[in-house]
Amino acid sequence: MKIIMLGAPGAGKGTQAKMIAEKYSVPHISTGDIFRANIKNGTQLGMEAKKYMDQGLLVPDELTVKILLDRVAKEDCAGGYVLDGFPRTIPQAQVLDNALKELDDQIDFAINVDVPDENIVRRMGGRRACLSCGATYHIEHIPSKKEGVCDACGKELVLRDDDKPETVKNRLDVYHQQTQPLIDFYEKKGILRTVDGTVDMKDVFAAITAILD
Ligand code: ADP
Ligand code: ADP
Ligand code: ZN
Repeated sequence: MKIIMLGAPGAGKGTQAKMIAEKYSVPHISTGDIFRANIKNGTQLGMEAKKYMDQGLLVPDELTVKILLDRVAKEDCAGGYVLDGFPRTIPQAQVLDNALKELDDQIDFAINVDVPDENIVRRMGGRRACLSCGATYHIEHIPSKKEGVCDACGKELVLRDDDKPETVKNRLDVYHQQTQPLIDFYEKKGILRTVDGTVDMKDVFAAITAILD
């Protein structure tokens, strides 16, 4: 099963992708997590990506596509995967499409988690992330058991630099200009499925499993 998660930053793609990965036993692949791990480890790639991420801009396609293709070529992806945050541009989607075509393969579903911009800005301010294991919480909706501490690994939770209101505004603009056209792209292929992302995370997940089962 090969799934793409579409949606604005903060729509809940990551939250749902992790639940899908667990239920269907496929790896969860987040390009954002891969970039953040590289930043944390001080790699060349991380330093390059950070320049764009801090401004709420997309990392250039050349860099992003290479990382993603390397990742999905790994053995654990043979039985499928759930992509979270990739593709984010039409060229990225085309590269993925072509790479899959060469393997006589294709994406099964692109799940669009639909949340209006007004909700997004409120959500992002409350998001808390663990930069150690990638877990994500929300101070009101999905709190960690102990404030500021990751349930999964015990490390500190932070407000990501790019979740500050000024940057969120840029990221939403970038989303509308560069990523939203993918909704049409996958609609035309007949694999787009849209779910209401404003309801409780369990109800969003129920709508997704109804599609996938
Ligand atoms: P969110 O979950 O809030 O949508 P991500 O963790 O997916 O954010 O991405 C954080 C940042 O990493 C993006 O704003 C962008 O700068 C960069 N990034 C992640 N995935 C991609 C991609 N497919 N193409 C270009 N940039 C990306
Ligand atoms: P994305 O990966 O699309 O950027 P996340 O999964 O990181 O989004 O979710 C963004 C924020 O909203 C996080 O703080 C997360 O805990 C919270 N969140 C996710 N799903 C829901 C939901 N259905 N209702 C309320 N808050 C949610
Ligand atoms: Zn953690």
